[in-house]
Amino acid sequence: METNCLFCQIAEGKVKSDKAYEDEHVLVFKDIHPKAPVHLLVIPKIHIQSVAHLGGNQGEVVVKLIYAAKDIAGKQGLLGYKLVFNVGREGGQIIDHLHLHLLGGWSKNGDNKIEV
Ligand code: 5GP
Ligand code: ZN
Repeated sequence: METNCLFCQIAEGKVKSDKAYEDEHVLVFKDIHPKAPVHLLVIPKIHIQSVAHLGGNQGEVVVKLIYAAKDIAGKQGLLGYKLVFNVGREGGQIIDHLHLHLLGGWSKNGDNKIEV
């Protein structure tokens, strides 16, 4: 754990979050400023700064994030969704702990889909 990392603190339960799913490796929680009717963040419990910082042997981490996103999207009955990794400041990454945005639920309330 990186002591100064917000998402490490959330993963450790030291900072509160609205959890949607948790297992040994992965935590899924609601984004505090949702950009879609359903906006969840899927994070590994171990600290990795970003996709750009993934080690050659950490492919399994990414697979776990995608499978957790797929499972929770299925459970929430999302008809379709977007999975987004922002990488680095220029890529819109503000929190330097690897996270997968799960965005969906537009058909539930008739909102327009965002395009990225
Ligand atoms: P990024 O821009 O780094 O890809 O996404 C970081 C996301 O974390 C943003 O969508 C932002 O709203 C969310 N976020 C920032 N601080 C908090 C927090 O304290 N709690 C939760 N649940 N989400 C946060
Ligand atoms: Zn971290």
